[in-house]
Amino acid sequence: MVRCDIITLFPDMIRSVLGTSILRRAQEEGQLDVRVVDLRDYTSDRHRTVDDVPYGGGAGMLLKVEPIARALDALRADGEPRRWVLTSPRGRRFSHELASEWSRDSRRLTFLCGHYEGIDDRIGATAAWEEVSIGDYVITGGELAALVMVDATARLVPGVLGDPSSVQEESFVDSLLEYPQYTRPAEFRGLRVPEVLLSGHHAAIRAWRRDQALRETLRRRPDLFGRAEVTEAERRHIDAENSLSG
Ligand code: SAH
Repeated sequence: MVRCDIITLFPDMIRSVLGTSILRRAQEEGQLDVRVVDLRDYTSDRHRTVDDVPYGGGAGMLLKVEPIARALDALRADGEPRRWVLTSPRGRRFSHELASEWSRDSRRLTFLCGHYEGIDDRIGATAAWEEVSIGDYVITGGELAALVMVDATARLVPGVLGDPSSVQEESFVDSLLEYPQYTRPAEFRGLRVPEVLLSGHHAAIRAWRRDQALRETLRRRPDLFGRAEVTEAERRHIDAENSLSG
């Protein structure tokens, strides 16, 4: 079970994604619990102001620290243990490893979504934030980032995907990329599905898939391949083929 709170200026953005497909079913079946916290509920003025201009000048608006601090105080009132996640392009890069760690953590993942030009830097003093980024680019708000992280985390919870083995054999598990997959028809515009997959020979299929995963990882992502657990025999086999192909 993954439990999270998402603090945002745009609750509908979060709800529309969480109300669809696998994430929706995960919530209905109690494997995922998400609460959406509307930052505007924690403003104190008539206009429900959440942003203001930056001191020192410059483009755009920043989220004010007070409404956020009030929202955090309200969340803390339930006494639940939490992990505080600040979505930020300056953060540590999100990864399969982090998703996997979160999927086993019983604490509530509490995401804060920035918007506009970002957040008043004093936000840092309001909680023990882990700053996490989804990649080296800037998006308009933390909502999509939080959704990416919740999605990647929730699908690792046992039962969220119908068949548990689908999680085990995917890209990045064991630092390997996935082997190629095919579905019907067996022949499409002259392209045949590899014969071994039609053979019904399970050991041969497993060996072929392992071999393909190793090759694809080495070819596309040598950085990942370096971290994968590869047997001595497998390494020799791949080295031999590489030296043959030049
Ligand atoms: N001015 C900031 C960018 C602000 S973008 C800068 O230059 O660093 C507005 C918000 O979108 C951020 O506060 C953050 O919550 C979110 N965001 C943008 N890019 C992100 C990324 N790569 N990963 C995670 N969150 C991101």
